[in-house]
Amino acid sequence: MSLLRHTKLAVLSASRALGLDHIVLNSSWRQQRLLIVCWHNISIDDEHIWDPALCVSPDTFRSRLDLLRSMHCNVLPFGQALTRLREGTLPPRAVALTIDDGDSSVYLRAWPMLREFGFAATLYWTTYYSTHPYAVFDPMVSYLLWKGRGRFLQLREPLVRRSLKSSTDRAHAFRAIYDFARMNAWSAERKEAFLADLSQTLEIDYPEIKTKRILHLISPAEAHAMVAEGLDLQLHTHRHRVPRDVALFSKELADNARVIREVGANNPSHFCYPSGSFLPEFAGWLRNDGVVSATTCQPGFVRRESDDYFLPRLLDKDGMSLVEFAGWISGVAAKMFRQQPIDDHSFR
Ligand SMILES: [Zn+2]
Repeated sequence: MSLLRHTKLAVLSASRALGLDHIVLNSSWRQQRLLIVCWHNISIDDEHIWDPALCVSPDTFRSRLDLLRSMHCNVLPFGQALTRLREGTLPPRAVALTIDDGDSSVYLRAWPMLREFGFAATLYWTTYYSTHPYAVFDPMVSYLLWKGRGRFLQLREPLVRRSLKSSTDRAHAFRAIYDFARMNAWSAERKEAFLADLSQTLEIDYPEIKTKRILHLISPAEAHAMVAEGLDLQLHTHRHRVPRDVALFSKELADNARVIREVGANNPSHFCYPSGSFLPEFAGWLRNDGVVSATTCQPGFVRRESDDYFLPRLLDKDGMSLVEFAGWISGVAAKMFRQQPIDDHSFR
C-alpha cells in the first residue's frame, strides 16, 4: 500500500473514531450532494478474486448495504434523486444505487439482497448477450486464462505459446485472442465455440461455469421478474459500445430501449456510458434521443450545478475498505481529499 493511501485510510479511520464523519454526513454541505454508487458483478463463485475492480464478493456487497442502513442513508430511486437534487429538496444523506451491465449475478445475488434491505436500484442493462445463451466474450476469455494460470497455453489460431503464470503473460494472451477475434470478425457463435475449446485446452469445466452462469447476462424473463418487483431498467447500449457516429449511436440506444420495453419496463430515459467512455458531443446526441441524464465512472458527488450528461459516481471495488466506503458515504473522503472535478471533462 502506498504511503498516501495508508495516510488517507488512517485519517478516515480517525475521523470515524472522532465522530467527524457523522458531522459531515449530516451537514448542509452533504445535503446538497447526491452520491451515486456503482457496482458491476457480485461474485457467483470466485470472480472477485479474478477481478476485484469489476466484481465484489457477496460479503462485501452485504457490508455496503449494512453500512448504508446503519448510517441512516436515504436510498432514493435514481430518477427521483436527480429531480429532487435539481429542485433543492434532496433529503439528508442521499444515495442512489446503480448496477452496470446486467450480469447474471444481479438476479442471483444483488437484487435479492437489495430487496431484503428495501433499497431501490437502477440497472443500466446492456442487452445483446441477454438475448443469446453465450458468455460475455471478453471477460470470459480473461477469466478462463486466470483459471488456467498454472498452465502453459498453446493455441494454433490465434498462435499463442506462453505460460499463463503472471498477469502480464495472461494480458498478452488475452490481447492476441482479442485482436484475432476482432480481425476475423468472429460471430457470437464462433466466440462461444472458442471459449469451449479454450476451456478444454486448459482443462477447465466450462459446462459447470455455464451452469453457474458466471459472466453470462440475465435473461429477458429474469429482467421481467425483477422489473415486476421494482427494479428500474435504464440504457447502457445494446452491444456495450459507443459508436462515434451519431446514427449508429442512436441505433444502439434504440435497440437497447426496445429490449428494455419488451420486458415490461417503462420507456428508459437515463443512460450510462459503457466502460465510462464519453465525448463532449454525446450530450447533444443523447438529448436528441430523449435521454435526460448520463452517468460516468468518474468519482465524485453530484451537485445541483453538475452537468446532467456527465454525472460522477463512486465505483465500489472489492479491494475498497469499509472505512473508505464509509468515508465516501459521509462525504469525509471527498471533503478531505480533493477529487478530480467532473466539470473539467477529462475524456478518456
Ligand atoms: Zn458496462
